[in-house]
Amino acid sequence: MTNTLFIDGRWVPAASGETREIRNPADGELVGVVAEAGAEDTEAAIAAARAAFDGGAWRAVPAPERGDFLLKVADRLRERKAEFARAESLDTGKRLVESEIDMDDIAACFAYFGKLAGLEAGRLVDAGDADVVSRIVYEPIGVCGLITPWNYPLLQAAWKIAPALAAGNAFVLKPSELTPHTAILMMQVLDELGLPAGVANLVLGAGATAGAPLSSHPDVDMVSFTGGLETGKVIAAAAAGTVKKVALELGGKNPNVIFADADFDAAVDNALNGAFVHSGQVCSAGARIIVQDTIAERFVDELVRRAQGIRLGGPFDEAAETGPLISAAHRDKVTAYVEQAVAEGARVRCGGAWGEGELAKGYYYLPTVLDNVRRGMSAVRDEAFGPVVTVETFSDEDEAVATANDTHYGLAGAVWTQDAGRAQRVAGRLRHGTVWINDFHPYLPQAEWGGFGQSGVGRELGPTGLAEYQEAKHVYHNTRPQVTGWFEDRK
Ligand code: NAD
Repeated sequence: MTNTLFIDGRWVPAASGETREIRNPADGELVGVVAEAGAEDTEAAIAAARAAFDGGAWRAVPAPERGDFLLKVADRLRERKAEFARAESLDTGKRLVESEIDMDDIAACFAYFGKLAGLEAGRLVDAGDADVVSRIVYEPIGVCGLITPWNYPLLQAAWKIAPALAAGNAFVLKPSELTPHTAILMMQVLDELGLPAGVANLVLGAGATAGAPLSSHPDVDMVSFTGGLETGKVIAAAAAGTVKKVALELGGKNPNVIFADADFDAAVDNALNGAFVHSGQVCSAGARIIVQDTIAERFVDELVRRAQGIRLGGPFDEAAETGPLISAAHRDKVTAYVEQAVAEGARVRCGGAWGEGELAKGYYYLPTVLDNVRRGMSAVRDEAFGPVVTVETFSDEDEAVATANDTHYGLAGAVWTQDAGRAQRVAGRLRHGTVWINDFHPYLPQAEWGGFGQSGVGRELGPTGLAEYQEAKHVYHNTRPQVTGWFEDRK
């Protein structure tokens, strides 16, 4: 079925009739055929969202009731978890258990924003005048363009959809063209639960065609994008033409700082998780290990030994610990990245090659550890978005912090030490949006997520994640109007 665009409450094909095949990156098998939208489809979706927003059907619903709706979405997602998780694994190639965790997190995200929706209607401001009532009210922004990547397809979309709906907006979602299926399922749920037509719209297709109108169109009030840095720059520049609000969740080159007094086994184990979960296709991957020189050799030897033992396989292979890269093109990028690192002097301690045998059917790349790297090298500076970790060393706290902060990104980082004072000092000095102490990767729907530096603009999740989808309006009410006499009445 190719009626997979959801526009104005109806399932429709692309106006051009074009379609796209979706294939499982683990084995190349056909997963489905979906509509390939062009700009005209996206413009139709924007028009539907504009009409729905201006018509007021959703924003007029009291905020606590909008919250109740989100709680129902969370329930429905929990009921249909197996089906959603399977669809996510088929599109992305990630382990089924990882997709199941994603679905739990997505339900939790809807539940969080469902509960938050009706809590705060605004605030009173003391105007310093007993005859004045001054209040701030929070209103929806309007039509939101939501553009999302392929690594956590529905999770990244949920971080946008849930607060956008909680705040009373209408939206057009454009997921990655590689991973459309869970977005289709999500629209089914919103539709079944009775969201008014036009409030939620889905267009599927390539970024430059189906996605581009969301950042340039005058009827879109905000564009919220998660994806790569270069695409983020294109979107921000296009959005400037109509001065729309821009939220960007971009990449990261995230430091994992390990002091000599850290719990060694836990630090090695979490360094593996940080770098190789989902084959490193994680914006917050701990791709830069920065380890104290006194333990560096032992640490890297152990990391390499463990990395060599990681079992790769498809999403439904229960023995597999991580899966393939998303596409042949992406694997070529990771391959070129490692080649460039080697040309600049890096040493491949393990990996640096494609999967062989059974794995040759998919886009597998072996867990890779690079040492003999220096700050400034491309492997240390640029995001690989694959299973590649570099190792740098430091001698003292100042050098550790300086090294970890030497990046144009600033999404996340970790510090490992059993010295609580040092842990807090270093956490305070790291210029990254999330800092883990003696852990890697956990995040909470109630805690803001986002980047310093070129990792982005704005925050998702937490109370700020809702505020991103709201305008603050100041209502100033003079309850006893009087002639001011500022201008003399010369009649
Ligand atoms: P990408 O930038 O190639 O694509 C992301 C989305 O943007 C896709 O839907 C794509 O179709 C769309 N797009 C591309 N060009 C566009 C244009 N001109 N106009 C509008 N839309 C356009 O990123 P990707 O390869 O899908 O994802 C990987 C990147 O995402 C990595 O860099 C990763 O770090 C980042 N990411 C960041 C976070 C975060 O929370 N900060 C989370 C996940 C992924």
